[in-house]
Amino acid sequence: MTQTISPNHDLARRLREERLIGGLQHFVGGQWVASSSGETFDTHSPVDNAFLTQVASGDAQDIDRAAQAAHEAFRTWREVSGAERRRILHRIADLIEARAQEIAVLESIDTGQAIRFMKSAATRGAENFRFYADRAPGAGDGQSLPAPGFINYTLRQPIGPVGVITPWNTPFMLSTWKIAPALAAGCTVVHKPAEWSPVSATLLAEIMDEAGLPGGVHNLVHGFGESAGKALTEHPLIKAIAFVGETTTGSHIMRQGAETLKRVHFELGGKNPVVVFDDADLDRALDAVVFMIYSLNGERCTSSSRVLVQEGIYDEFTARIAERARNIRVGDPLDPETEVGPLVHPRHFEKVMSYFGKAREEGATIAAGGERVGQAGNFVSPTLFTGARNDMAIAQEEIFGPVLTAIPFTDEADALALANDVKYGLAGYLWTNDLTRAHRFAQGLEAGMIWVNSENVRHLPTPFGGVKNSGIGRDGGDYSFEFYMETKNIAISLGTHKTAKLGVGQAPKVDKTVVEG
Ligand code: NAD
Repeated sequence: MTQTISPNHDLARRLREERLIGGLQHFVGGQWVASSSGETFDTHSPVDNAFLTQVASGDAQDIDRAAQAAHEAFRTWREVSGAERRRILHRIADLIEARAQEIAVLESIDTGQAIRFMKSAATRGAENFRFYADRAPGAGDGQSLPAPGFINYTLRQPIGPVGVITPWNTPFMLSTWKIAPALAAGCTVVHKPAEWSPVSATLLAEIMDEAGLPGGVHNLVHGFGESAGKALTEHPLIKAIAFVGETTTGSHIMRQGAETLKRVHFELGGKNPVVVFDDADLDRALDAVVFMIYSLNGERCTSSSRVLVQEGIYDEFTARIAERARNIRVGDPLDPETEVGPLVHPRHFEKVMSYFGKAREEGATIAAGGERVGQAGNFVSPTLFTGARNDMAIAQEEIFGPVLTAIPFTDEADALALANDVKYGLAGYLWTNDLTRAHRFAQGLEAGMIWVNSENVRHLPTPFGGVKNSGIGRDGGDYSFEFYMETKNIAISLGTHKTAKLGVGQAPKVDKTVVEG
């Protein structure tokens, strides 16, 4: 394990004293408040599982207060001009940038993610706000759809107060990804962050308040999924739920929201294939494969957790992955040298560790890693399973750690069949220098997002989301507005069409009136 004392540690010590000792509260209607019940829960450091902070534990009553506040604020926020929303969202982005180091350090302390990735995750949060700030003035734009005798035009209006429920992996960035377009669209928000990573959501609420977002437009309720999260999905004043998390939780939310007919947007799990053909640029492919599974502790929905390698290059390519995996620096997440930090929580650590035993039982080989690192905290070694088959649990289930399963394939048809033979369909990565094969394969791959000869490089206007059990709906660009807004059609008659006359005592000779439902 790596261990050096850096300026991040001094900042971390100060922030723990200044920010965490007093505990975290909800933010409702522009006020910091405790839970109505007075209940709290504790969170712990992934580094050594020592006490980190105490957090207000929200329940249905707290969610109701927040939903009422969001409902009240919606009356005015929806009328605020796009230009003014733009100004406030840019101000939020400015403040995020100014506090990016603080956000990065606190996120690292809270989640165990390596600091080297957290600074860019914070600035990415600012970019998300800027991107949607600039689109706020045009969010309501629609189409002109003329017809004989009519002008039809459409416009979009914000759907109302929305619930945002986020997971614990890169929570700050993911929250901004949902909250920025919702606010730009004119919606108000109740945010329920993950109970294992509540800190950066608190910072974000503070920043938005400081940026001049009116009270009640953004509300934050901490708490557990089964209490606060469930209540949010069931609340009648909440019109839609934007959710990022596990596939099984998505199913619960769909059931919970059925009574109040919630609109849902789900970004769920993945078991994403990276397919390496023998004609690919193998050096670049190696860098991308290693990056996409071992960065962010492998706790990444778009991680390429299955590498499918053409059989002629399988042994050599997987040997190169194993060598890199063994060299990865596992250690203190605040150390700038660290590449893989501890997993977020002992429960998640146990889950990831359980796959090492499963891999052995299933007959796969542990070519690298496969053990815990150190005696304290939630550290696991970057792991590679070789000799695996696609029907093994290690190839089918989302492990969500720095753990890669390598499977050989014979030809293009075999690779496509293996790639698609999972319940998930979030992302796919393809390495080949055969242009026509690249297009053919990408079209056949069952995934919402495909990168050819690249790792995940995100362009904000493009659609982000999955198919099959990986999700419903798309984020990004205008796609987010489709979710947070209702489209309305307005038909204006030019006064020339004929209206059927009923009750005039006789049937028309030829009735050409069109009757629609
Ligand atoms: P999780 O589903 O356990 O929890 C996510 C959130 O849902 C938390 O805030 C939790 O409190 C809440 N929740 C739990 N039960 C609930 C319920 N019954 N009603 C309402 N809310 C409830 O997920 P996690 O373990 O925090 O996150 C990891 C998962 O997130 C992985 O499966 C990962 O692939 C997925 N993820 C997907 C994307 C994507 O874009 N597709 C991005 C990041 C993470």
